[in-house]
Amino acid sequence: MKLKYSDVKKTAGKLKFRTQAFIDGKFVGARSGQTFTTENPATGKPLAEIAAGDIPEVNRAVTAARKAFDRGLWSRAKPGERKQVLLRFADRLEANADELALLDTLEAGKPIGDCATMDIPDTIHCIRWHAEAIDKLYGHVSPTGPENLALILREPVGVVGCVIPWNFPAQMAAWKIGPALATGNSVVLKPAELTSLSAIRMAELAAEAGVPAGVFNVVPGLGETAGQAIGRHGDVDLVAFTGSTEVGRCFLKYAAESNLKRVILECGGKSPQVVFADAPDLAAVANHAVGAAFWNMGENCSCGSRLIVHKNIKDELVQRVVKLARTWPVGDPLDPRTRLGALIEKPHLEKVLGYIAAGRSEGAKLILGGRRILERTGGYFMEVTIFDEVSQKMKIAREEIFGPVLSVIPFSTEAEAIALANATDYGLAASLYTQDLNRAHRVSRAIRAGTVSVNCFSEGDITTPFGGFKQSGFFGRDKSIWAHDQYTELKTIWMQLA
Ligand code: NAP
Ligand code: MG
Repeated sequence: MKLKYSDVKKTAGKLKFRTQAFIDGKFVGARSGQTFTTENPATGKPLAEIAAGDIPEVNRAVTAARKAFDRGLWSRAKPGERKQVLLRFADRLEANADELALLDTLEAGKPIGDCATMDIPDTIHCIRWHAEAIDKLYGHVSPTGPENLALILREPVGVVGCVIPWNFPAQMAAWKIGPALATGNSVVLKPAELTSLSAIRMAELAAEAGVPAGVFNVVPGLGETAGQAIGRHGDVDLVAFTGSTEVGRCFLKYAAESNLKRVILECGGKSPQVVFADAPDLAAVANHAVGAAFWNMGENCSCGSRLIVHKNIKDELVQRVVKLARTWPVGDPLDPRTRLGALIEKPHLEKVLGYIAAGRSEGAKLILGGRRILERTGGYFMEVTIFDEVSQKMKIAREEIFGPVLSVIPFSTEAEAIALANATDYGLAASLYTQDLNRAHRVSRAIRAGTVSVNCFSEGDITTPFGGFKQSGFFGRDKSIWAHDQYTELKTIWMQLA
């Protein structure tokens, strides 16, 4: 996309939305005739009415998924054939990348610059990467005696339910369906109710690419209804969930109370960025710290929301961070210059503002931002916000805010820094900054988090597993070849030879 504000606005105005469920290769409305409204968080105005999928639609989608799985057109296709179809799917996504980027921008309030250069290219790359991997993976022969032959194989689990959040709508869908489809499963995906449009379009593009009917179904709907129906369905073999830790817990309960389906949880975070006094380059650290805290409006599970800084460099680093944060423009997500778009919805904005009030009343020092802005647009915008002199006991240091709010916490010793980094129920990601190689090893091993980045803020790339320790996750990992494991069952075939 040629990213010119006027062009982007024009293209956005002409978009047609797909608003129905996509089940068994066809668009269908909800049997109840019910719809729900999705709005543009940058204007507060409705964008579209979406079919409200509920138990009947989930049942229909699971039946179609099971039938497709049993028929074997996909589940028993040669890996090389699945690869070709998924590569075509990636090509279809690429051919429609501008539209997908705009759908996520309009529905989630995310800056078009991010959607067009990160979210959608990563979505496409994710599908391609998993497609390319599948005809290069081998099973095992066990080292048993000469009278037997034992094959250790991986087989698709069957029908996979995916329930995903609103913060990276297309990308979260790709992180699930990439490995789930590549390994031969059938999928029923429920997008977040606030962001259904890109997922529905992706299902249509997958069908165009040759993914057989019933293999990739999308049922838009509410969490308590459609989400729960997937979680409790007796014929869903596995649920892959990304979202809050609170809702993650519900899926464990649903599984326990139904068919013991496998449950994979990717949940929240309260990630530390630990800066030692010997950090190589404070200008670079400030750059990473601002990106970690404010990218995607802080609506990011790996958001580096706690800046844990050695007291000797704190003032200098904080000064740099504040100066840089001021240069991140907040505004219309369709404007390519915008770095921070709108928060997802009004109740969420109010929740974030509530955290700011809590920070002030608990005695943290507000040094930047803290207010709602651009109210005349009708959108849910807020200032980039920084608190200094935060203690780990405060609510803003303990709870996931999921907004553009950074807390600065000072430390004196390495042991104290590690203790602060780990003083959280979460363990998704962490960053540390030091020139000392031994310290980098020591501290990255001591921090209990799924991904620790050194001298940068990063979630790695498609080649690295992503997921959390402690209450940030359960059982699995997204991305990389390890993501394939969670969508397959391990089978032993034991043969008597003599
Ligand atoms: P959420 O409220 O937990 O919702 C996630 C999904 O679960 C949505 O599709 C939601 O549907 C559904 N859901 C809600 N209540 C449900 C219920 N009772 N039963 C079944 N399904 C239900 O999370 P969110 O607010 O969309 O996303 C933000 C959270 O996601 C943050 O905590 C963030 O850290 C986490 N996240 C984690 C990762 C990771 O990789 N670890 C990545 C991105 C985001 P509705 O949309 O209708 O509510
Ligand atoms: Mg919306």
